[in-house]
Amino acid sequence: MDSIYIIFYFISSILFILGIKMLSSPATARRGNFISFLGMIIAVTTTLLIVNYNLRSIIFIASGIFSGGIIGLIFAKKVQMTSMPQMVAIFNGLGGLASSLIAFSEIIKSDTTISLNIISVSILISILIGSVTFSGSITGFLKLQSIITGKPILIPLRNYLNFILLISIIALMITSFFFVEYTFLFYILISSCLLLGILIVLPIGGADMPVVIALLNSYSGIVAAFTGFIFGNIALIISGSLIGASGLILTRIMTKAMNRSLANVVLGGFGATTETSNQEVSDKTYKSGSSDDVASILEYSEKIIIVPGYGLAVAQAQHSIKELLDILVKQGKNVIFAIHPVAGRMPGHMNVLLAESNIDYELLLDLDQVNEKFSQTDVSIIIGANDVVNPAAKLDESSPIYGMPILDVEKSKSIVVIKRSMNPGFAGLDNDIFYNEKTIMFFGDAKNSIDSLTKSFKELN
Ligand code: NDP
Repeated sequence: MDSIYIIFYFISSILFILGIKMLSSPATARRGNFISFLGMIIAVTTTLLIVNYNLRSIIFIASGIFSGGIIGLIFAKKVQMTSMPQMVAIFNGLGGLASSLIAFSEIIKSDTTISLNIISVSILISILIGSVTFSGSITGFLKLQSIITGKPILIPLRNYLNFILLISIIALMITSFFFVEYTFLFYILISSCLLLGILIVLPIGGADMPVVIALLNSYSGIVAAFTGFIFGNIALIISGSLIGASGLILTRIMTKAMNRSLANVVLGGFGATTETSNQEVSDKTYKSGSSDDVASILEYSEKIIIVPGYGLAVAQAQHSIKELLDILVKQGKNVIFAIHPVAGRMPGHMNVLLAESNIDYELLLDLDQVNEKFSQTDVSIIIGANDVVNPAAKLDESSPIYGMPILDVEKSKSIVVIKRSMNPGFAGLDNDIFYNEKTIMFFGDAKNSIDSLTKSFKELN
């Protein structure tokens, strides 16, 4: 009977695993979220009512859960889809801070020396990773929110400095085993870890930040797992490991889709030298058209592929595109969406955005599925996308994005690009697709342009 809590922890862990599995498809993601939420309720209730029953702490913890829950709910409701990485950064950071504070409280609670065992090692690692996660995530937040510059801040010899700081931190961790009564050592340790987090993230460009946020998310899971070791809490060890592993997988998916190594992202500096090459842009010629021109192309097209990108998200054009989609489908057109894994500014950005306007998931094809379809397509409409359709990734070995898998839009019979200007996207590169003889540039904000296109198309029919 004493170990009944293990059964509840086991159930909650299964719910976490099921929940994470279901998050992998837009069709089941909502249910997955709910199932994980149930798992968390079971884990927390078991801990409070069975494992560590103490009425006073329950009141404290319940009021924390209530007030934190309300703040989280308000933020989640208010946040724009394009600001999601910032929000995740704050959540990760607070997770890291919580684990770090819990570990620190264990140190000040015990007057005895820390002996070398799994618990004390877990305490020190929790302080290290938790503090780095906290300060790194907050620095990432400040960059993404443009409170400090989003450009890489390159301190000379930064990698050596970080290495020396890390070695000093490890030395301090070892020392603290022997001098646990000197609490000030732990303050120095925490301050050094916080400094390391800031120094690691400062050189990373704002637009690379989502990759770093995914990595820090993984750290917040790892640190939670270590905190689980401190308290012998199996549910925390399992859920922390799940977050740690899934964060790492996500980081890998993102770096692979950008054709960058994790080291290249984490060592920073990307974007510091790739300033836009607008001067070259003006020399080349391109065709531009109106909504009526694009409407007549659609009128004569049977197979249409829509390629959404960051600009669609910024313009919040997801509902407008749904309206256009419905009309095209009603006219018997075959319309699908080509989703590049790093289109937008966060993983799954386009899927989430289009799901918001109830576009059928079946119509969203990923890179591998859709690339073979471009050659049989009458028109590809690129909406606020740029890098993910840039042929330089295949053709120009000197390009910073060379090797990044891209959507083969140039294979379609004609191409329409909706954006506001000839300005480049995230990577700061010009794009030959805009000057292709098959391409028509339709300039304007994505939402306004799609609305006027829908109007023109309706007038034709
Ligand atoms: P890009 O950043 O390459 O291009 C977006 C384009 O949208 C710009 O050229 C801009 O042109 C246009 N745009 C901006 N605002 C609007 C608007 N209101 N209406 C219409 N167009 C607009 O976006 P992609 O989606 O093609 O590529 C994503 C890039 O982000 C990749 O380089 C990827 O590596 C990177 N990245 C992605 C992450 C992810 O997880 N998804 C994470 C980190 C980076 P104009 O100003 O002329 O309108």
